[in-house]
Amino acid sequence: MEKNENLDICRSCGGRCCKSGGCDYDASDFLEVDYDLLYEALKTGNISIVSYFDFINDDRILYLRSRNVGKDIVDLVSLPSRCMMLEDDGCSYSYDDRPRGGRNLIPNIEFYVYCKKLVPGEDIIKSWKPYQEILEKLAYDFSGVLVEEKLERDMISFFADIDQSFYHSNVSYDVLRSYSQYAEELKEHYPDIYQKYEDTYENNIMETPLIKSLFKGKNR
Ligand code: SF4
Ligand code: SF4
Repeated sequence: MEKNENLDICRSCGGRCCKSGGCDYDASDFLEVDYDLLYEALKTGNISIVSYFDFINDDRILYLRSRNVGKDIVDLVSLPSRCMMLEDDGCSYSYDDRPRGGRNLIPNIEFYVYCKKLVPGEDIIKSWKPYQEILEKLAYDFSGVLVEEKLERDMISFFADIDQSFYHSNVSYDVLRSYSQYAEELKEHYPDIYQKYEDTYENNIMETPLIKSLFKGKNR
């Protein structure tokens, strides 16, 4: 892949991409994709197993991404946060050691436009398609629950985060807007899980510390 690093542009930008979440690994970033090698990589704590939903083809792909601050090693659905590998002076990996998703971005001086990619991000994610069984087993071993259960738990927390993020999240407006659309698609494709979220949270939301503090002093 062509080397397209431009430290001056990225420094002026301040790492907007890395502040919006870790970049994606391609399966080819690893010498070999087998259980033991990925287990050791995940054990470092710097990588998460995440999921991608192909709503058009009704498919879900597990893959690896640089871990986000405050998120689990198995982080199937969540609002993004800053990548754990981002330091004050940039990425803590050398260019060649960076996940392919990070090397895929073409730094752009016009920061109001998202940086373009050398190849579509989906191509990188789909490189993991042949390794779903290994990733499912790793997800179970690191989370202690089957993927479907972890997915349900993460989705319920995600719906709650989306509903409350307007009040207390430090997620940027653009990211929040795109994740709100993502939440709508999840609701449509997983109505049973959304219903569970409503049952779990709707009656309790006015009692959360955050909402209570907003209404403090009000007549309620
Ligand atoms: S790749 Fe783009 S978004 Fe990321 S730090 Fe560089 S200029 Fe900013
Ligand atoms: S691994 Fe490096 S390039 Fe990728 S998101 Fe994290 S800090 Fe940015």
